[in-house]
Amino acid sequence: MPLLLKIEGREVESDLTFSLVSVNRLVAGTSHLKSIPGSFLVIINTNGRRLLRLKKLDEPQDVNGPPVTQDIIDLIKRHKQGNFERVSALDGVRSIFGYSVSDTLPFQVAIGVPVSLLQERWTTQSLAPLIVLLVSISLIAWLGSRLKEAFRQLQATTTEQAYAARHDKLTGLLSREAFIHDVSQQMAAATSQDERATEPATVMLLNLNRFKDINDTLGHEAGDSLLVEVGRRLTDSLAGSTALVARLGGDEFAVYMAESTAIEWLSQAPHSGYARVSRRLQVHRSELEFSASIGYANWPQDAASTDELLRCADVAMNFAKQNLKPMSAYLAAFDSFSPDMLDLRVDFIKALRSNGLSLEYQAKVRLSDGALIGVEALSRWVHPSKGNIPPLTFIPLAENSELIHDFTHFVLEAALLQAKAWAQERHPLPVAVNLSVNNLLDHRFVERLDALLRRIDLAPHLLEIEVTESAVMRHPELTLKTLHAIRDMGLRLAIDDFGTGYASLAYLKQLPVHCLKIDRAFIDNLEGDDANRRIVKSSIQLAHEFNLDVVAEGVEDAAAAALLLDYGCEYAQGYFFARPVSAAALAERWWPTKE
Ligand code: C2E
Ligand code: MG
Ligand code: MG
Repeated sequence: MPLLLKIEGREVESDLTFSLVSVNRLVAGTSHLKSIPGSFLVIINTNGRRLLRLKKLDEPQDVNGPPVTQDIIDLIKRHKQGNFERVSALDGVRSIFGYSVSDTLPFQVAIGVPVSLLQERWTTQSLAPLIVLLVSISLIAWLGSRLKEAFRQLQATTTEQAYAARHDKLTGLLSREAFIHDVSQQMAAATSQDERATEPATVMLLNLNRFKDINDTLGHEAGDSLLVEVGRRLTDSLAGSTALVARLGGDEFAVYMAESTAIEWLSQAPHSGYARVSRRLQVHRSELEFSASIGYANWPQDAASTDELLRCADVAMNFAKQNLKPMSAYLAAFDSFSPDMLDLRVDFIKALRSNGLSLEYQAKVRLSDGALIGVEALSRWVHPSKGNIPPLTFIPLAENSELIHDFTHFVLEAALLQAKAWAQERHPLPVAVNLSVNNLLDHRFVERLDALLRRIDLAPHLLEIEVTESAVMRHPELTLKTLHAIRDMGLRLAIDDFGTGYASLAYLKQLPVHCLKIDRAFIDNLEGDDANRRIVKSSIQLAHEFNLDVVAEGVEDAAAAALLLDYGCEYAQGYFFARPVSAAALAERWWPTKE
């Protein structure tokens, strides 16, 4: 505690402190102040005077030093413990002081540590871990980048694999599986919503015509380029819509789109998607006349599931192909596998087995004088409950199965017997019978026909065989063989529905036929349609150049008959001259018995 000293008779309050306790005792209450080697201890009294400074507790170095500055006194008063930085007044070394006020004595004890010492310790003690840390961080960073790269590669491979699984390699369009999956999902999503809000959708199948020929003549590379180009055009034509475009395999493409998009796309307008896809193609420096058959079916109207929808679109596409139309919508009537048609097929088989089918005959006349020159036999089926079923409905039920052979045999037998009967009545009249493509491909057909002719004993020139241009073009080589065999038997041959197929001139020249029947689509509105007139005119010229007779089908009025005569067409068939009628009605009209 401060002393009162008597100096030269005066009492003076001393700054000095005399201690009779060991320094250890003085600092004992501040044991939480940790000293580190190189640090020093300072004891300051309440007035800020430095009473003691020592390096080691047992060796005093400096006592009663100068006071500390006022700001430190203030700091110590405010906080019982703390630290401050100062240049030591004793040795001029910048040090950090940690202090603590003794609870029991009027002292502050501070430990000073030179900053340089702290830095040194920090570097030695902290740098090693820091270096370790840095090394670890860079290792982790390196490992991390390696891991990231590996992960990126893995992800890329996975993405690539997922992409490859979902896309067609050649065109980049969706694969069949992905298409079916996505369409099913979209349909499921739409189904679960409010039914009234469900937007109908369309699946469209597009199959290239004569793709095999292109592959065979120009090579597979050209074929591939064609497929890529068609895929690109399809996608471009649907840009901006939510359509799914896929290549299902080979030369078959599929699109799933909103019905409204489909209506626009399928329109024949110059800027419709259809027009944009079916433009000519430049493939390997060859200009390709590109055509496709398109079939489409609507959801939910035609089918409820993806598979069924695709099947319906396929039925429609095949119908378009067989009838050489650019496109066709699905109609249950030509779907031999729709439930209704399967029922009808059963009924048709019954009719075929039990004389339920019959023939009508339509006259072919000479235009110059209206004379009867032959008839065409046309099949008729009057269903017991459904009434008259048109041949374009029931013939497809027989096609693509063995039934077609029995059916054609029935027609041939009935027509031959009728022709024989007429011949015996001294009205030898050539009868024409229509064949299906599958008859032409049946290797036993010619043999069966020959046997029938012999059995009925009809002069071969009284039988004419009609084959459609599209049937002939389906399998040109095989068909040609059968046609030659038929002609060799002495029968007449006609190309039916001429103009709707794509028979090339070169091919036509090889056909061993006697007659071209111009399809009634061109005769229809002959007067009003300039394009039809030109087609008909040039078909007549062409036929004559090949020494073929020409029959115009579907002549419905006198004006058409007159024009045809003018163009040099010799023969015609049509409602204007005669409708298809029973054999009895025909005889009655053309050979009326005198009363
Ligand atoms: P097709 O061989 O071209 O027969 C001509 C069709 O045109 C017949 O239709 C006939 O009734 C119709 N027709 C004739 N003149 C006119 C006319 O002035 N105006 C219109 N609008 N139509 C006319 P049908 O009898 O309905 O036969 C349709 C098609 O069914 C036939 O076309 C033929 O391809 C096929 N067909 C008919 N009978 C048989 C058959 O016994 N066997 C095979 N394979 N096909 C047959
Ligand atoms: Mg015909
Ligand atoms: Mg015809």
